[in-house]
Amino acid sequence: MTKAKRRGKRTRKEKVDMLIVNANELVTLKGGSEKPRTGTQIQNLGIIRKGGLAVKDGRIVAVGKTPEIRKSFSAENVISASGKIVMPGFVDPHTHLVFAGSREDEFQMRVEGVSYMAILGAGGGILRTVRETRRAGVERLVEFGFKTLDVMLEHGTTTVEAKSGYGLTLKDELKILGVMKRLNQLHAVDVVPTFLGAHAIPLEYKNNPQEYVNLIIEEMIPRVAEKGLAEFCDVFCEKGVFNLEQTRRVLVAGKNRGLKPKVHADEMSMFGGAELAADVRAVSAEHLLFASDEGIKAMADKGVVAVLLPAAAFSLMTGRYADARKMIDFGVPVALGTDFNPSCWVENQQLVIAFACHFMRLTPAEAITAATINSAHAIGRTSEVGSLEIGKKADVIVLDVPNHMFLGYRFGVNLVDKVVKNGRLVVDKEASGIKTVGLF
Ligand code: FE
Repeated sequence: MTKAKRRGKRTRKEKVDMLIVNANELVTLKGGSEKPRTGTQIQNLGIIRKGGLAVKDGRIVAVGKTPEIRKSFSAENVISASGKIVMPGFVDPHTHLVFAGSREDEFQMRVEGVSYMAILGAGGGILRTVRETRRAGVERLVEFGFKTLDVMLEHGTTTVEAKSGYGLTLKDELKILGVMKRLNQLHAVDVVPTFLGAHAIPLEYKNNPQEYVNLIIEEMIPRVAEKGLAEFCDVFCEKGVFNLEQTRRVLVAGKNRGLKPKVHADEMSMFGGAELAADVRAVSAEHLLFASDEGIKAMADKGVVAVLLPAAAFSLMTGRYADARKMIDFGVPVALGTDFNPSCWVENQQLVIAFACHFMRLTPAEAITAATINSAHAIGRTSEVGSLEIGKKADVIVLDVPNHMFLGYRFGVNLVDKVVKNGRLVVDKEASGIKTVGLF
């Protein structure tokens, strides 16, 4: 090729909206969108050293080595990630985003040794939050949810699943799902709604839980589905809450109306929730601290994603965690979420990754896969998010660490330097950073 021709080629660079270049590690998670990763595949991060990417109209249009990206694309907005890592925004596949009030006094009781189930049995826990959420107006709930999403975004989460379940009447469940819809419209973070009317037996049905299950099946699910307010239907399947038979009825009723099943399974006891999740072909089973070997095998067989929530286990203070290693060995795809709720108040997926490494012995690479592409599988969003690939949303985070193994290793602080959501720079620590003034 002649010099002139080469020059000519350089001038034909495609103009795009943004380039992110020179990442020490560009963690792409490429190739995990078809099937969730498990076994040894979960360690495969698809890292490109000195990597970069191009963004146009909110989407990723190129991923590769920085010189290749620079050669083909130009943009006014160029972000240098020199010395840092770049990866997909975190996907949080399990939150209870919308509620009113707080329960710090119950936290103190739990520190002093009172069990979570004892607090719930005495009308506290979920039931207390239900009382406060029923009283709260839409505006107050939207304001609270918005603030929470801000904190999540600052910590690098760009997509969250959100469960209802603090209303437990048709009117209040619709109110909460409506708030989630508003939040999805108002806030940069994408909110994926799950109907969790079967979160607890409300006090008014204490002596007739079956009637409440009927209400969920006959009134709530049809209305929620008809209004298009949820994609998933979840049940808190646990001794003293919803039994296996009730859980199955609710999940099947949801499925018949197009709501994909999820289960809060085997959190406090070995209850058969994992087996049931496999049996009803749930998209995911969540918690799983006490899942049986049979249940784990059945989940692997049916491709049910295990959404593990080590921050919730941490907040239970029993020292028990889900057996993530066994699940990965058996071929279950593992995802990680916060379980953000009034008894596990954490918005930060980076801390969840640290807990997963320390308490469940996931490597940082495994935990990163679990908190991104596998989480996207758990909420049916793999065509949009969870990896840095051409055509996906430009939901990208820059972390101020030299390599991915720092995730989990350096914990308790926010490693986020920048967050790009739908191709827009929405968090920039560099620009808003604290200016240290020397005392000299
Ligand atoms: Fe939960």
